[in-house]
Amino acid sequence: MSIRRPLLVILAVAALQAPGACTRSATTASEDTSHREWIAGGPIPNRYQIAIAPNDAAGSFAGEETISVRADEATSSIVMNAADISVGSAAIDGAPAQVQMNAERQQMTLTPSAPLPAGTHSIHIVYTGKIQDGALGLFRTSYSDHGREKHLLITQFEPSDARRLAPMWDQPNRRAVFSLTVTAPSGQNAVSNMQAVNTEHLPGGATRTHFADTPPMASYLVFIGVGELDRITTNVDGVEIGVVTRRGQAERGRYALRSAADVLHYYRDYFAIPYPLPKLDMIGAPGEGGGFAAMENWGAILYFDQYLLLDENLSSEADRQFVFDSVAHEIAHQWFGDLVTMNWWDDLWLNEGFASWMASKATEHLHPEWAPWRAQLNGGTAAVMVKDARAGTHPIVRPVNTIDEANLAFDGITYSKGLAVIRMIEAYVGEAAFRTGVRNYLSAHRLGNTVSSDLWSAVQAASGQPVLQIAHDFTEQSGYPVVRATGEACANGSRANQVELTQRRFALDDSARTQQLWSIPIVARRLNGASTRAVMPARASANINVPPDCGPYLVNAGQTAFFRVLYDQRNFDALAHGFAGLDPDDQLGVLIDYWAFGRSGDAPFTNYLQLVSTLTADVDPVVAMDTTSSMTSLLDYARGRPTEGAVRAYGRAVLAPFFHRVGWTPRNNESPNDSLLRARLVTALGELGDGDVIAEARRRVEASRRSPAALPGSVRDAAYEVYAYNATPAQFAALVSQAKAATDFVEQRRLWGAVGAVNDNAIAEQLLNMTLGGDIPRPLRARVIREVAGNHPRMAWDFLAAHRAAIESLLEPGVRLQFPGDVASNSSDPAMVAELERYTTNFPPGARLELEGAKATIRLRADMVRNRLPTAEAWISQHPNGR
Ligand SMILES: [Zn+2]
Repeated sequence: MSIRRPLLVILAVAALQAPGACTRSATTASEDTSHREWIAGGPIPNRYQIAIAPNDAAGSFAGEETISVRADEATSSIVMNAADISVGSAAIDGAPAQVQMNAERQQMTLTPSAPLPAGTHSIHIVYTGKIQDGALGLFRTSYSDHGREKHLLITQFEPSDARRLAPMWDQPNRRAVFSLTVTAPSGQNAVSNMQAVNTEHLPGGATRTHFADTPPMASYLVFIGVGELDRITTNVDGVEIGVVTRRGQAERGRYALRSAADVLHYYRDYFAIPYPLPKLDMIGAPGEGGGFAAMENWGAILYFDQYLLLDENLSSEADRQFVFDSVAHEIAHQWFGDLVTMNWWDDLWLNEGFASWMASKATEHLHPEWAPWRAQLNGGTAAVMVKDARAGTHPIVRPVNTIDEANLAFDGITYSKGLAVIRMIEAYVGEAAFRTGVRNYLSAHRLGNTVSSDLWSAVQAASGQPVLQIAHDFTEQSGYPVVRATGEACANGSRANQVELTQRRFALDDSARTQQLWSIPIVARRLNGASTRAVMPARASANINVPPDCGPYLVNAGQTAFFRVLYDQRNFDALAHGFAGLDPDDQLGVLIDYWAFGRSGDAPFTNYLQLVSTLTADVDPVVAMDTTSSMTSLLDYARGRPTEGAVRAYGRAVLAPFFHRVGWTPRNNESPNDSLLRARLVTALGELGDGDVIAEARRRVEASRRSPAALPGSVRDAAYEVYAYNATPAQFAALVSQAKAATDFVEQRRLWGAVGAVNDNAIAEQLLNMTLGGDIPRPLRARVIREVAGNHPRMAWDFLAAHRAAIESLLEPGVRLQFPGDVASNSSDPAMVAELERYTTNFPPGARLELEGAKATIRLRADMVRNRLPTAEAWISQHPNGR
């Protein structure tokens, strides 16, 4: 899956969570699986033949299933998974079997009249299932077609909801062939993982479509979709690629279709294995999944429309890049996840970290102008390094026992830290050796299941480098190191090219101050020299020689590794002095580290501000975007303090040269990242109170109501956010009526997303109350609350506490346990910690770490305001112009 994108760029804080924690052994055989909610032993499924006939009006579907299984020994009962299933009849080898359901365990037991001998058997079950309203199992999404409400029926099974489609062994290591048949009402058609092999026309206009057998695959990757569908296609390397949407919308998928063709061809080359199925469909559906943007069902990837479709006049550069990234991520899974699947959810990161990394790799090849690694450093990596340095974090690889824990495993550590660790190891062993390792891993395990060490062993064998040790240290321990680097002064003479490195765990709070060590791949370089490569062993200190002389040096040059570098003051001053001359990647890495050191107290906050003061108008757009986020974060910390006005003015002064360069109007041939930067700057300057930007945003929003061209897609969302943030009651009312008039979900989402940026207290209160009524589309209500919490954490929290039952009824299972923490963690009020604790008293133990993380975030905000901000405020009062 790919995680959904934050709705707004203002306060874009990725929701991260975290249960369970300790280390595990490398192989399945020696793991402690005694608490795992899975089915061990018993018969093994070979093939499922499943026929489904949905009845949308009744909210149910008729199902008929034949499973062929192999039993290695005689058995008196068969246990499999089932949920929301009502069995009409069950038989084994033609003889009736007793059925016993266990709703709590989501299991079903079949008992034959006599024990079954070892060998193959056939199970036949006739049943009915439920069409769900939330994004799990077979569920419906609604849309408006010329004023008429219509539905698409689609499925979402990861991690454990295929058992709601049919009784089955619903765990990733029980691969089986799926033969699917779907009956669609008159005027509708069906899509699934494989191509249709024949379609019967039934009396009354319905059709019954039989799909080709899948290869042996994990149940969570099965897909069925039914509705009034359109499809556009292209062909690459003998594979038919399609975009499937509700009728009339498919052309909006052209960009995704072209991207998929490019990406599929690139992966075929990278993996040296052709795409394994004859077709690949990408299905767009209106709506919003609890925590996910898209799902990599084999041959039939599901996306919510906003992650697949673009509108020429409405979409931004950020939308375009996100669609490409979603497509590249999900298609990478077709090999890495689908062809080869993790054995169990402990190793989810193998799927998700790798697909995230592979998407950036494909972007680097196909869109180098987006600077994907730099963008990743500023986006995912910087955020996850904060989460991984405080209470509530966990190792990348950790035990998952329950369904709640599996749901919570889809977090920033799994995706972003996973990506960063893979990038570090690729940079260490080299691109070619890494690719060879990946190819060998995939071909050795195709149509099989694996654990993490299978991949690292293959990369180690291909490279001859001690990959397993580095991978072990970074994936099985929480946190990451800060390396303190001390160079000798020139006066010391002959050994002046030596740099001493010491390591410890980087911590933002006491919980992370543990004794840990890592084997760390080091790339060091003098600014006037070549790179030196070494592995710092898992020891407290080590020396490396960095020739040629005693000039300024960088550690983690190129910023490919997952650690921070704290320089001796002399070297820091030298780097700051020549900061404009560093590569953008290194500028960004040093900025991110020193922002973190300012928060942790490892270096004065003024070091960071000093670096910012050296940035020029033509700095790389990703570096400028990172600075933009810092300026709005400073405002968040200063809100309500006597210095708020000065911090706002300072932020505007820092950002003014960047905005002066990019302006409101795109220049010919400008870099796409300048377009991203423009939108970010408009949003931030509007929040920081730039009168010109606010006036222009208002002018453009109002003009666009008469002439849409006044507000091109590149700045549309940003201008709406500024408009909403600074809205008067009349402007708010106008915006709400515009959002209510929108009929397409993607457009509703854009407009309600902007509305959520409101800053005025009375308006924010009014908006919160609207989430209890019918004005805001149901799938967007919880997100509007989350957005309001960005600027009004106390108000949003009190609202949640006062309307708990109503709001919880809006939340999908995948986000129910995260939501209170998401809302509360915008606050810097220490009292919020106890309130969050009280609210979540009855949460399951699996959510404990997640909550620890939210509480730590509140404490860290409070600590920043109390202990670090005064230094920054003093510096700002002396440098009001940012220089
Ligand atoms: Zn994924």
